Amino acid sequence: MIPATVTSHDRDSLRDALVAMGEKAFRADQILRHVYRRCATSYDEMTDLGAALREKLKVAVPVMATGEPEENRSKDGTAKLLVPCADGQPVECVLIPEPPGKSPPERRTVCVSTQAGCPVGCVFCASGLAGLARNLTAAEIVEQAVRVGRFVRSRWDAMDHPISNVVFMGMGEPFYNLDRVLAAIERLNADWGMGIGLNRITVSTVGVEGGVMKLAAHPLAPNLALSLHAPNDEIRARVVPFAKALPVADLLAEGVRYQQKTGREVTCEYVMLGGVNAGAEHARELAKRLSGKGLKVNLIPYNAVEGLAYLPPRPKDVAEFSRILEAAGIPAPVRRARGDRIAAACGQLRLRKVKEGHGAPA
Ligand code: SF4
Repeated sequence: MIPATVTSHDRDSLRDALVAMGEKAFRADQILRHVYRRCATSYDEMTDLGAALREKLKVAVPVMATGEPEENRSKDGTAKLLVPCADGQPVECVLIPEPPGKSPPERRTVCVSTQAGCPVGCVFCASGLAGLARNLTAAEIVEQAVRVGRFVRSRWDAMDHPISNVVFMGMGEPFYNLDRVLAAIERLNADWGMGIGLNRITVSTVGVEGGVMKLAAHPLAPNLALSLHAPNDEIRARVVPFAKALPVADLLAEGVRYQQKTGREVTCEYVMLGGVNAGAEHARELAKRLSGKGLKVNLIPYNAVEGLAYLPPRPKDVAEFSRILEAAGIPAPVRRARGDRIAAACGQLRLRKVKEGHGAPA
C-alpha cells in the first residue's frame, strides 16, 4: 500500500503521524511550511530537518502523490502543466498570470482539475470527449497548486505567496467530488497551508442537485461560478448535454441563494458558440432571466478545439451581446480565452496523452 503523503494530511493528522513515529509534532509545521509556502516537492529541499529524519520520512510519509509535470508555455504567458498521477492518469492545471506581460504578475491564478476526465461532456470542451476516468484525491488536487507555485517561484524569484487565486475550473465537475474539493480548499486556505483567502478561491459547477446549498452551508464556502452557457433549457441541453445538470431557472435560483447565504461572489460563465447561443436574441433572453438577481456574467468567446466542429462567435456579436446585458444593468465583461477561461481548451493536453495510450479512461 502507498503510504499517505504530506499533501493527503491536514495539520493535525500530520502532527499525529509524526508523533506516532517518535518525532516532535512541530516537525509537521516545518514540513507544511516547506510544501505550501516554498512549494518544496522533496525532503531533500528541507535542510532544516536532519539527514536521518529526511530519509526516514521519505519512506514513511512521502511529500507528493504526483510526479514531475510536463510544462507547456503559451505566448500569452499562461502555462499548462500536465501532472502525472501515480496510476498514470494525466491531470491538467494552468497558471494564468495577470496582467499579461507584467513581471512579476500581480495575480497568479491557478486553474485546477478535480477529476481525471469529466462526465459532463460540454460540447465545446476537450475534457468531455474522453469521458470520466476517476475522481482525484485531495492530495492530487492541492498538488496542482503546489506544482504551479513551484513553477512561479522558479520564474519570478522565490516569492512567499506564489499563488494568489485558485479557480476550480479545470477538468471535471467539482460537485461530484465535493468532499475532496473541500479538503483541498482547506489546505489552500489554512494559515498552515497556502494562506489563500476564500474570496480568492472559486468553484465552478454546471449545477448538481443539492450541491450548491451543501457548499453554502460549509464554513469554507468560496466564490461560485455557474457554468450556464445558455439562456434557456433547450439550448443548454444542446451545449451541456448532461441529463443531471440543473435546469437554468433552478441553477440561477441556487446561485442567488448561495450569494445571499455566504456573501461570496457568484458569476455565470457563458461560453459563446457561433450560431448556437451568441445571438442578440439570446442576450435579450438572458438579460430577462438575470434581471434583478445581482449576478454577473463572464462572456467567453469560444476558441476552436481540435476534433470539435463548433465556430467562434463573430466579434461584433460578442460586443453586441455584452452591450445588451450591460444596458440591462448586468455586468458582462468579455474574457479573453486564457487559462481560467480555458473551458474551450481544457483537457486538450490530457486528451492527447489519453490518445497516445497513457491514462486511458477507466
Ligand atoms: S467544460 Fe468543465 S464541466 Fe464541461 S465537459 Fe469540460 S471539464 Fe466538464
